[in-house]
Amino acid sequence: MTELAGVPDRYDNRPLWRTDELMRLVVTNFIGLSLIATSWYGTAGEGFVNHQVVWANLGILGILISAFGNFRHLLAGRSRVGSRRARSVPDQLHRLRKKLETGLATAPATEPDTQEIPTGVVLVRGGELVHLPTCPMAKGKDLQRLEPATTATAHRSCPVCQPR
Ligand SMILES: [Zn+2]
Repeated sequence: MTELAGVPDRYDNRPLWRTDELMRLVVTNFIGLSLIATSWYGTAGEGFVNHQVVWANLGILGILISAFGNFRHLLAGRSRVGSRRARSVPDQLHRLRKKLETGLATAPATEPDTQEIPTGVVLVRGGELVHLPTCPMAKGKDLQRLEPATTATAHRSCPVCQPR
């Protein structure tokens, strides 16, 4: 069905209509238009309206046959478009999920740093400001936990998170 190995069936590049559906369209339109033409020709030769009714009925039958053929044709195409869309939507969701997972995997892991020190105050290694573990200024940096006794004297308080 598909030319490339490993390509799923949902990527089908087949034409929207099968050959038998195209043939049905041609045949119904041919019959319908023939009846309309016959009706037109027959009506032209009649002088009385009541004699033209039979020909007019023939023309209406031609219109109905033609309309039926076109309706079935459009319905078949619409149905195929709908099923192809339904098959492609889960694929798009899968790709979005993959993209999201890849993005999360390559993003810097800032959460574990703050989660390691859930309470108290922290100091960025080499820094001089004391932060809360949740402070955005300390996020993603190498932190060391401080004992409350040390914080009171040696370090200044961060103006963003204001631990004291
Ligand atoms: Zn801070």
